[in-house]
This record gives sequence, structure tokens and C-alpha cells, in this order.
Amino acid sequence: MPLHQEAHLGRRQKIGLTALLIGLVTMVFVLTSAILLIASYQSEKESLTETTLNLNYANASRMSQTAESLFQSMLSTLDFSAHNLMSADGPTEDLYNHYLELMRQSSSYFNSIALVNENGMIRNVSPESLGTAGLLYTSKPVLDALAAKKTYISQPYITKNTAKMTMFISEPLFDSEGRYQGMLGGTVYLEDKNIFSMIFENNERDETGSYYYIVDSKGHLLYHPDKTRIGEDISTNKAVVELMKGHSGEQEVMNTGGVKMLAGYANVPTSGWGVVVVSPVEVIHKQIIGHMEKIFWYTLLPFVLLLAVVIIVARRLASPFVYLANLVSKVGKGKMEIPAARSHWNREADLLTKTLFTALTVMQKQTDQLTRHAMTDALTGLANRRALELIMEEWIAERTPFSLIVMDVDKFKFVNDTYGHLTGDEVLKRVATVLAASVRPGDICSRYGGEEFIILLANTRVEDAYIVAERFRLALAASEAPTVTPITVSQGIAQYPTHGQSSEMLLRNADQALYYAKNTGRNKTIISGSESEQA
Ligand code: GH3
Ligand code: MG
Ligand code: MG
Repeated sequence: MPLHQEAHLGRRQKIGLTALLIGLVTMVFVLTSAILLIASYQSEKESLTETTLNLNYANASRMSQTAESLFQSMLSTLDFSAHNLMSADGPTEDLYNHYLELMRQSSSYFNSIALVNENGMIRNVSPESLGTAGLLYTSKPVLDALAAKKTYISQPYITKNTAKMTMFISEPLFDSEGRYQGMLGGTVYLEDKNIFSMIFENNERDETGSYYYIVDSKGHLLYHPDKTRIGEDISTNKAVVELMKGHSGEQEVMNTGGVKMLAGYANVPTSGWGVVVVSPVEVIHKQIIGHMEKIFWYTLLPFVLLLAVVIIVARRLASPFVYLANLVSKVGKGKMEIPAARSHWNREADLLTKTLFTALTVMQKQTDQLTRHAMTDALTGLANRRALELIMEEWIAERTPFSLIVMDVDKFKFVNDTYGHLTGDEVLKRVATVLAASVRPGDICSRYGGEEFIILLANTRVEDAYIVAERFRLALAASEAPTVTPITVSQGIAQYPTHGQSSEMLLRNADQALYYAKNTGRNKTIISGSESEQA
């Protein structure tokens, strides 16, 4: 794989501080919200379910009590009227008819009322328009009531005469001697407008989808908002099963349509009926979901704000690292200016910045020192051969014109031999001191090796270099020497670019001039190319 591709891959796997923080914050937010929402969903579902069940049970209970007292009133009305009719003295048929009519109209308990003799023949009926007076009852519930000779509440049944779903309630009639005389019975047409529908039917399905229905003791629907279902057998419904056992209560049930419902149910003791109030579970679900959605939207705004803050903070957190990385990447690439250390509000970043700056400063100092050592001649403190060559190459590369003076101490071997090496060294130091004092600050003085020195003079014509060389030579000869005889030097001068385009060429030419000086008596300065003139 090519190197740049590898580098690219490597970079792609790194994750930035901003992305990392955004990821973390998002994860924390999502997890926290999820936990909160789930917990709140659960608790709300429980409490809403319980509230709904309680409410439905309370309603069922209230309705069953109403139904119970209705039955009690219906029965006592019949009972009272039965006694009244029996104690009446020789009443005419008209009076009976009138009495039944009054009974029916005043209470609205019954859709019809009939006075039946002990053989099951209808003596009087209200409304008279039914035209059943004089006929024999053949419906089984009525015959059962006749045979029972006591208070009777029938199961709902379909009458042969009117073909209506009916229930029959009766009280027996006994004369003053206690002989059975038949019964006083009332009917309720369950599908028509009747006393129950008048009382209960004012509240149809409400906005929560709740509704109620009434079943008889065998589990048949007596009332349901869906009229077509009246008479249907729903005895398998769990709430109805409980009702048929005479229980009241509340529970979650599956209705016949397979829909989950929260049901409250209550028994009506006298008739064995049951009232069931149900609310679909789905409604609760929807309510909670709506609530959750609201919570979600409310929390989204703070989350977005939080993200914005995180992005800003992350950028600021990352900036010192990026800055330091850039700074450090420059280390070692030439001379570096270390800027003043910035302080940072983040403790770690501040610590890192300060530490790094301290380290960089120390490193810079050490590097400077090492560089200086590497470029300096230990004995004289002048630039060494390496430094000189570097500077010369640099100037040639920049095409800066310069003059070069090569010098060699005369008869130095003699100094060493006569006074010893230490004195020889003293002489070299003296040469360096005088040399440094003879040139301008921009000029480069170096000890090229042994007792050979080279001076570089930037932007200097060869004539001017000659003046400098001569000034130095005379100053050195006049200076106080550690030896008896004065120290003298021979010098050769070359000029870039006149005497050579390369450093080797220049050095060779300057050397030639120097040799010429040596050979022609020493203690003199020769410019390259002028050897023959001097001769
Ligand atoms: P001339 O150049 O005038 O021809 O004579 P010279 O005696 O100077 O010639 P040569 O170049 O042969 O001698 C140079 C001597 O310098 C040889 C060496 O012992 C001595 N020398 C070189 N480097 C040092 C140094 O660092 N210290 C001392 N004391 N002597 C050195
Ligand atoms: Mg020499
Ligand atoms: Mg010499």
C-alpha cells in the first residue's frame, strides 16, 4: 500500500474530541430519556389503568344500585297494586282498566301491565290498544310465573304476540281467604324506549371510548350501544362469567371482538343482571404516548442547547492540543521561535501547555548550546572549519559576493619546538584575539585547522579585504607576543565570484596566493591572481 494511503487510513480511524463528546452526551441523553420514558410509561400506565378500572367499577356500581332500586320500586308498585286490586269491592272492568292505565302512566316502569286470572287469561291490559284482553297467555315465562304463585322476574324472552324482547315481572293475587286469583304483571320491552333506557341511555360512548352494557343472569346482552347486539350471548366474557357467579369487581378483559378492555362490573341482586362499564386499553395507551411525545419534545430543546454548549466547549478543549501539536511539529525544523506560553482555563490543558513550553525552552537552550559547541573551535572560541564551510556554502547559494582571507602563522613549528605546545596554544589564542578585534561584527573569523585561519567578509571587494588583512597583519606583528620574536602571518585572498564559483575553487586559489606569500618571504598578503605582479 502506498505510504500516503496508509497515512490516510490512519487518520480516518482517529476520533476527535468534539465527536467523542457529542457521542457521549447523545448516548447519555438517549439512555437517560429512554429509562425515564420507560419508567414514566410504566408508572403512568399502572396508575391510569387503576384509575380507569376504579372509575368504571364506581360507575357500574352506581348503575347497578340504580337498577336494583328500580326493580325494588317496580316490585313494590306491583305488590301494592295487587293488594289494592284484591281489596277493592266489586270493581267494574272499566275501573280495572283505568287503574292499570294510571299505574302504567304514572311510573313509566312498565311498557304494559296486565291483570291475569289463575288460568292464565288476560282479564285487563294497559294499554288497551294491545287488544290482548280475553286472550290466554302462552309464553313460558308467564306460565312459569303463574305456576310459581309468588313474586317473579323473568329472563328476557321474545313474546309471541308482539315479537318483542320482553321481560316480565309479576306479583301473585290472593283473595281475602288466601285463594290464588292469578297475578298482576308488567312487561318491559327491552329494545324499545323503556324505564332502563330512559335512565341509562343518556350517556353513550364518551370521548375516551368508554361505554357500558347490561347482561341478564344467563349472560345475554340486554343493553348495548350497538343495538344489533342486544340478545347476543356473551357469557364467555370474563367479566360476565364473574357477574353470573354473583360477583362484582374490576379487571382487564378481552371483549368478543378481541379488543382489550378495562372493565368494572356490578351485579343487580334482584334480577341477577349485571352492569359492565368498559374502556379500551388502547385509549390509555394513546393518552400515555401523547404525553411521552410531549415530554420528548420538551427535552429536545435542552438537549440541543446542551449539544451546542458541548461543541463549543469541545472546540475550546481541543484547541490547545492542536496548537501544541503544531508547535511541537516545528521542533527540529530549523531555528524555532518559542512564543510566550498561553494560559488555559482547563487545568490539564494548562498544565500540559506550561510543561511543554518549559520543556521546549530547555530543549531549545540545549540545542542552541550544542549547535554552538559544534560550530566553535574550543581553543580560540572562533568559528570552526565546519561552521565556516556551512556559511560559505550558504553565501554561495544566495550568490552573496564575499572575500576570503586564508592565513597561516609563520614558523609556528619553531614556536612549538622552542617554547613548547602550551606557548604555541597561547600564540594561537593571541592571533584569535587580535583577529576578532580587527574585523567588523558581520565578518566571520574561523580557525580552519592547526595554525591556519580563514576570514569571510560579506559584500566586500578584494581591495577592501586586502586592507582588512593588512590591518590585521600589522596589528598582530605589533601586538605583545608570548614569544621573544613578534608573531607574523602570511595571507592569501580570493573573492567570490571573481576567483571561483565554488568553495573548493576559492580555497584553492586563496591557498595558492598564501603559498606564494610563504615562498616570497612570509609576513605578507597576496591577492589571488596577482602573484606574478608581486614577483
Ligand atoms: P611555515 O608555515 O611558516 O612554513 O612554518 P611552520 O612551522 O608554521 O610550518 P608547518 O605548517 O609545517 O608547522 C605547523 C605546526 O603547527 C605543526 C604543528 O606541530 C603545529 N600545530 C598545529 N596545530 C597546533 C595546535 O593546535 N597547537 C600547537 N601548539 N601547535 C600546533
Ligand atoms: Mg601551516
Ligand atoms: Mg605555519
